[in-house]
Amino acid sequence: MSTPDETFHKRVKDALKDEQLQNALDIGTGNLVSKRAKAFAAFAGIEDIRDRARLIRAHTLSQLDGYLAQFADSVEAAGGHVFWAKDAAEANDYALKLAQSKNVKRVVKSKSMVTEEIKLNHTLQEEGIQVVESDLGEFIIQLGNEAPSHIIAPAMHKTRYEVGEIFAEKLEIPYTDDPIELNNIARAHLRQIFLGADMGISGANFGVAEDGSICLVTNEGNGRLTTTTPRIHMALMGMERIVPTIDDLSVMLQLLGRSATGQKLSVYTNIVTGPRRADEEDGPEELHVVILDNGRSDLLGSNLSEMLYCIRCGACLNHCPVYQRIGGHAYGSVYTGPMGSVLTPGLQGLDEWSELPHACSLCGKCEEVCPVRIDLPDMLLKLRNAGDKAGKSPLWLKGGVQFYRAVAQRPSLYRMGLKAGSAATRLLASNGWIQKLPAPLSGWTDHRAFPAMAEKSFHQLWEERKKSR
Ligand code: SF4
Repeated sequence: MSTPDETFHKRVKDALKDEQLQNALDIGTGNLVSKRAKAFAAFAGIEDIRDRARLIRAHTLSQLDGYLAQFADSVEAAGGHVFWAKDAAEANDYALKLAQSKNVKRVVKSKSMVTEEIKLNHTLQEEGIQVVESDLGEFIIQLGNEAPSHIIAPAMHKTRYEVGEIFAEKLEIPYTDDPIELNNIARAHLRQIFLGADMGISGANFGVAEDGSICLVTNEGNGRLTTTTPRIHMALMGMERIVPTIDDLSVMLQLLGRSATGQKLSVYTNIVTGPRRADEEDGPEELHVVILDNGRSDLLGSNLSEMLYCIRCGACLNHCPVYQRIGGHAYGSVYTGPMGSVLTPGLQGLDEWSELPHACSLCGKCEEVCPVRIDLPDMLLKLRNAGDKAGKSPLWLKGGVQFYRAVAQRPSLYRMGLKAGSAATRLLASNGWIQKLPAPLSGWTDHRAFPAMAEKSFHQLWEERKKSR
């Protein structure tokens, strides 16, 4: 991961002004939110499954070293090779040397956020190896020379019209914005890529300790083709993605599809155990599993360790009112939305990422929808606190909080301030005297009407309600 050139503030402003992006986000997140809601409503036992999944994640991470060792032994017993990568450089180096030693000219990839995290494509391409993304969303953004903006829907920020333009320009075909035609064009193009690929690189949704299997969950056949057609398959897996048993995997799968896309199960659930055996017709000659740390060990020992429970479903992104408005690119990191605002500074430190934990209204929706009930708001607050202690809070925020603390500690002053603020803002807003606030408060009214405070505070309403009872 690297920090982008523009400031977070500038990226957010640009995103809010981008009408095309706003439309794409409305459609993309809206669809996924309603599909998840329907899938959860239709599954009576879902809350019990969520509890069970959380217990499995907690148990696995409490004994991660043991389960990782068991997983590695199982992969090798099934005929695969295992490499432990301490960081991005080691993982990239292993992939590059493997490709070069096997005379690989073309790599085909299925969607993998962890390969984005270490910038694997860049490493291979710099050495003259062709890398082609085969997930439709990833294929679109690779052609458009962009980064993914969502962990499960990488091209969520694109409308079909934009996709039509990219295909016409980069594939040199007549323009179309018909989704079925676009899909067929990508399919035909990628089929030839698969047939000529020497190496397939995938991520791993889960690794199963008891038998060394890798589980890949996709909605396109590309994951299966990536792992079976080329002569070498390399899977890059974050070290936290372990489940102890196949039974535990089935618990996770019941949640992953429903939380991500509202499906009971994704269209393809691939379980890969070792390379092709002597009596099998399909599959790679070699399987290499790279287990990546890249900051995860430190995270495990920190007060953010719960972040490693994440199964990358994307539900917290889809439901986040901030993500819904600014999209993924504004975050500037590979991992976006609430989970990215914790994971990125958790893995990379706060030096470059101290603004991300502030990209949150603390509404709590992310925790509510997270299938494994990760307390994201609590971790965002911890990160804000750590950033403040490290001197990362902006002056205006420090001053504002100090002012609020001084007033809130004096109840009569607080009540007086509320009454005066309510009366003044209602007067100004109702007469239309103020539409926009002046700097430095102008950000509040750039994209919304001037907010009048409610006539009665929550405290007053609460007191009245108690009395009326
Ligand atoms: S934090 Fe929870 S909701 Fe967000 S991607 Fe991870 S598992 Fe899904």
